[in-house]
This record gives sequence, structure tokens and C-alpha cells, in this order.
Amino acid sequence: MTQIDDRTEDDAQTPRLRFAPSPTGFLHIGAFRTALFSWLYARHSGGKFILRIEDTDLARTVEGAVEDFNDGLAWLGMDVDEGPVIGGPYGPYTQVQRKALYQQYAHQLIESGHAYHCYCTPERLDEMRKEQIANKLPPRYDRHCRYLTPEQRAEIESKGTSWVVRFAMPLEGETVVPDRLHGDMVFKNSDLDDTVILKTNGLAPYHLAHLVDDHLMKITHVIRGEEWISSAPRHVQIYQALGWKTPLFYHVPNVLGKDKKKLSKRRNAPSWSDYKKQGYLPEAVFNFLALLGWAYDDKTEIFERDELIRVFTLDKIGISAGIYDADKLLWMNGVYIRKLPLAELVERTIPYMERPEAEGGLPEAVARPLDRAYTTRVLELEHERLKTLGEAAEIVSFFFEKEIDYDLSILIQKKMDAEGTRSALERTRDALNTLPNWEHEAMETLLRELVITLGIKNGQLFGAIRTAVSGRTATPPLFQMMEVLGREVSMRRIDQAIAKLS
Ligand code: GLU
Repeated sequence: MTQIDDRTEDDAQTPRLRFAPSPTGFLHIGAFRTALFSWLYARHSGGKFILRIEDTDLARTVEGAVEDFNDGLAWLGMDVDEGPVIGGPYGPYTQVQRKALYQQYAHQLIESGHAYHCYCTPERLDEMRKEQIANKLPPRYDRHCRYLTPEQRAEIESKGTSWVVRFAMPLEGETVVPDRLHGDMVFKNSDLDDTVILKTNGLAPYHLAHLVDDHLMKITHVIRGEEWISSAPRHVQIYQALGWKTPLFYHVPNVLGKDKKKLSKRRNAPSWSDYKKQGYLPEAVFNFLALLGWAYDDKTEIFERDELIRVFTLDKIGISAGIYDADKLLWMNGVYIRKLPLAELVERTIPYMERPEAEGGLPEAVARPLDRAYTTRVLELEHERLKTLGEAAEIVSFFFEKEIDYDLSILIQKKMDAEGTRSALERTRDALNTLPNWEHEAMETLLRELVITLGIKNGQLFGAIRTAVSGRTATPPLFQMMEVLGREVSMRRIDQAIAKLS
């Protein structure tokens, strides 16, 4: 069959790609990865990125899902050229509002003999399915209504019986799905089901709705998950029956977990908002997602956004699945945190630190808002080590707390006892009291000398001081930390440690 293309030359040259989520749930990050491929290519090629809400499955619609898609796109910086909020020349961009269009094309397919009314009741279909399963046959509509005569139809319809529209798939031959990643995929028509293309409520299921929209919205490249491959021959048949040219198909492998199993929200796949809550930077997540199933070469991992747009081409999408590696993301996030100028790090971390303790913020006893100048000095010490913005509160809380609490056992270092630790801390206090300026280099010189005088090891003295002033065993560099804590707090905490040991 010859295909008619009513797109103009000009249209055909402007890539138009879409993200078409169904609000039947909140998306995990793998779905945003697939959308990102479309976005990146649209930006790379000077094309358009379109958001379309595929909400014809009313019974499964989840409240808040559409807002979540919008917020997720915005968080990741994937701006939309046309969509439900922003509008555009091919709207509406929400499928329930396009109901009449699907009815029009379903009707056209009936007229051209490619589709028919099916009156089978759910009970009959259920019976049929059970029987097929019992006979080890693939469950499929038995085409009962396909062969009704016009008289039989008139008779049934005169009773007001409700119907759906089914597409009459060819019974013989083959359908070729041209796929840009997998090459031509050939399917036997005898395996194709007579798909429902219009439901009793007048809404079209995905199989008709998406392709009517892709055609009318002049979508040039359909990038979607490979779970749609098995439906694609049916779509190709419908395209042909309508006399439309298919867009370029890219069925991309799903993102898999490290266990090689498909990501699922319930098992192992976070949503964009989980990342946000944990303090991942959207620019790091963006970079990470782009590399889930796409690679520029086999070594480059860090791509700033503009760089990615520049180098992103569809031929580099892999046909083996991207593996979701949470450790790699954590590493990458650290890389992006280190790239931030200190002032920006502070600006972006403070909201995480100021949120309620129960959500991962600083202890409630710490007064908000935080002092910016002090917080800047604190975060400067952690800048190199921070892996997420969300972990900052826990790591630096001792800089902000009035009282710190810790176990005596971490104060007393290896091969030291309580008595020795106490006297070493007393000597530390006395030495620090002689310092005119509370400055880390002077402290270091002084306390290194004290180590020699006491005849113990650096780690023994510095470990005890570290715990005394922070209540921790792992902290930023000791002397810089003490400088930021200030003389008063440091000395008070050393005194408290001495008291603890007495
Ligand atoms: N609404 C479909 C989904 O949620 C879109 C698939 C496609 O991209 O065509 O998976």
C-alpha cells in the first residue's frame, strides 16, 4: 500500500518529538530518561519538544500525576515548546479533550472497511479468554463480530446494545515495523489481534489515540520504551489504513536495575522528587539520565547540559539496556557539587538544612534562619566531601548545636586510657589559652609541639580533640574546623570532655 504523507517539506524537516505520559501513576526516573532523549534531540536539532497527556484511561487516572510530570520536567530543566499549559498550534495537548478527533478517525476506518462495531459483552469475552487459556491458545479476540452481516448489526443495534470499535487486522501476510534502532522488524499478521480502537465511553485507547495525535501533531520521531514493540505492527496497520506515513520509530531499551531486572517504582526506581528530597542536583541527574542507554564514547561521563545538547545524536542510543547504578549517580552528584561556586552551594544547601529535622534538616533546637556567613564557613570545609545537599545537615550539625553528645569510648583513642586522655586535653586547653589569635595554622604548630612534649602520637592527641570539639570521629580538617567553631565553643567543649573523663 502506498503511503500518503500530508506533511509539508518544511514540516518534515523540523524534528518534532514528544513526551506522552499517561497519568496512571507517578513516573520513575527511567521514564524521564526516555523523555530526555526526545528533549535532547529536539534541542540538538533545533526541533520542538511537545508534552502530551495521554489520559484516556479514566479509571486508572491518578490525581496529582500531571502536576508531577510538569514539576519533574521543570526540575530537570526540560522545557516544553508545546503542551497543555503552554498551548501550541496543534492543541489541545490533553487526550480527553481530543475525543471527537478519535471518533472521527474511528468512523473513517469503519467507512473504509478497516474497522467494525463489536458488541461482545465483557462476560462473553471473559468466557472466550478462559477457554483459550484452557486450550493453551493465546488469548485473543475471536473476531465474532467481524463477520456479522449488515442485517445482523442492524438487529443488534436496534436493541440499543452498546459497542466498541475494533480494527480488522489483516489475517495473512506480514507487517514490517521500521525501527531506527533495531532495523526492520517483521511480524506475522496472523498473530495480530483485532485491537479495540474506540471504547463504549467514546474514548480511544492508546493504540488509536496516540497515533492520531502523533500524526496531527506532526511528530517526526517517536522515542518510546521497547515494551511497545509488540503493539507496533498493529499501529503500522492502522497508519496504513488511514493512509498516513509512520513517524521514525526508536524503541529504546528499558533502564534496568543492577540486578538486570526492569526498574519499577515499587522495587528499585526512585522518582525525580525522591532525588530532589535527597539533595541531588538536577544537573547531575540530567547528566546521569542521559547516559542510561546512550553514550558519546566509552569513556566520557561528565557532560554539562550545553555540551550534551551539542553532541547528542540518536544513532548513539544503544540497543542494550542502560543499567541504573545508584553509586555512579552519587559519585556524579559529588562531581557537580564540587563544581558549584561556594556561594551557590550555600544558597542551594541552606533550604535542606533549614527543613524540619524529621525531613532531614538540622535538629529542631537549632534556630532558623541560619546565619549565612557562618554557614558559608562551615560548608566551605565540607565542599570537597559532600555527595548530596541532603546529607549536609547531618554532617555539619555539630557546628550548629549548643550541646553535643557522644560516647566516651570515641574520646579515648587507641592505646590511651581515660586518665591519659584527660591530662592530654588539659594540656591542650592550657596551650590553646596562650594563643593570641584563634587561627588554624597557629593552633596546628602549637599542638604538634604538644604531641612531641607528651610523647604520644598525632592521632592520639588529635583524635581526642576532634571528638571533644565535634562529638565525631570523622570531620573536616581539625584545625580549620576549630577555627570555624570559634574559640569559645571549642574551649567549652574541651572543658566538657575533661569533665566527662574525671
Ligand atoms: N502513554 C504512553 C505511556 O505512558 C506513551 C507511550 C509512547 O510514548 O507512545 O507509556
